[in-house]
Amino acid sequence: MKFYFPDSQDQIYPRYDFINDEYPDERVRQRDDLYAHQAVKPAPYDGILVSKAIVDGSVKGAGKYSAPQRDRLYRDGVKTFFGLPDPMESLGDCGAFNYINEEYPPYRVEDVLHYYTECRFNSGISIDHVIFGYRPDAPDKDVDPAWVKRREISLDLAEKFIKATESHNRLVTGRKQHLEPIGAAQGWSPASYADSVVQLQKMGYRRIALGGMVPLKTPEILACLEGISEVRKSGVGFHLLGITRIASMERFAKYHVTSFDSTSAFRQAFMDERNNYHTADRSYLAIRVPQVDGNPTLKKLILAGVVSQSAAIKAERECLKLLRQYEADENFEVQEVIDALYAYQSLISDAKKLKKVDDYRDTLVDRPWNHCRCELCKKHKIDMVIFRGTERNKRRGFHNMTVLEAKMRKLPLT
Ligand SMILES: [Zn+2]
Repeated sequence: MKFYFPDSQDQIYPRYDFINDEYPDERVRQRDDLYAHQAVKPAPYDGILVSKAIVDGSVKGAGKYSAPQRDRLYRDGVKTFFGLPDPMESLGDCGAFNYINEEYPPYRVEDVLHYYTECRFNSGISIDHVIFGYRPDAPDKDVDPAWVKRREISLDLAEKFIKATESHNRLVTGRKQHLEPIGAAQGWSPASYADSVVQLQKMGYRRIALGGMVPLKTPEILACLEGISEVRKSGVGFHLLGITRIASMERFAKYHVTSFDSTSAFRQAFMDERNNYHTADRSYLAIRVPQVDGNPTLKKLILAGVVSQSAAIKAERECLKLLRQYEADENFEVQEVIDALYAYQSLISDAKKLKKVDDYRDTLVDRPWNHCRCELCKKHKIDMVIFRGTERNKRRGFHNMTVLEAKMRKLPLT
């Protein structure tokens, strides 16, 4: 089972000064910042997924890449650009979520093929149009005509894409430059997904990406996989777009799912209400110590004269100081740290976050950073569980992916 990490230009600076919370002057972003596969060894995923929408922009406007970055990706190729070590793979897609509200995908097959081949991806997914709905028993005539249309568009573009890819592959010499075409299947039910797979197989696809399943419940995904397995041709493997669900991976693998991609372990580090720091058997709440000048709520309160800036800075520093003392001294009283966190959080007076402070006790008492063997936890210790700024939050995201990777390795997959 292969895991691809979708790129969103998430990097960390290896020499960030955690004590003074600043970047040293010598930092050159493009040269010094590291991707997760460069920051932790072994790399916490098997490959990266890079969407055209992120690189080139889409209907929503510019992508995440600056013009020079984009030029460098096209010129140097994905492998050099990301510093991908040899066994790691690269997969391109269009980023269908970026144009989900459009009637028709905004890209032409030629442009997408150009993106995949110029950037020298190992594999590329055909242009698809996401169907956001599930009606397992509805006959075609009863489902939203827009869904039917989207499935037709996806299949039509998949047919054009495999033809274009085959002519490209015929022209290049040397296997390394060949692009593996992956057909995207959309549907709203086991039967419609299965029919998409039948058609993609007829076109010649040996690898098929199943899209639009993110909102589905696991039994619904399994029902679709069951339907698909009845029509699957020997040798055909499936990629699940945007799905992790580690607990179900073994069952997915039985239906010939061979790869998936997901950002959720990474994003939970700073987007989830609660499951921020993962371990093999549970997850912890990260300890919020917002930066006085980086927290919009606090800034407003200071400007309005409700909170004194010096009091806020003092409370913030006190929290960080006590957290470091706690890390260094096993006998340090946990309540003292909680009290300081409570005092700081009450300045911001967000009732919801204030209620959470007592839940930090678990994170502090268990000291999970001491039990993790990833390089980041060994080096940064308690800073890994502090919810504060991009350098800490992304490191915690990278750590979460190492935990996911280790869980994946333990699964008895076929
Ligand atoms: Zn770790």
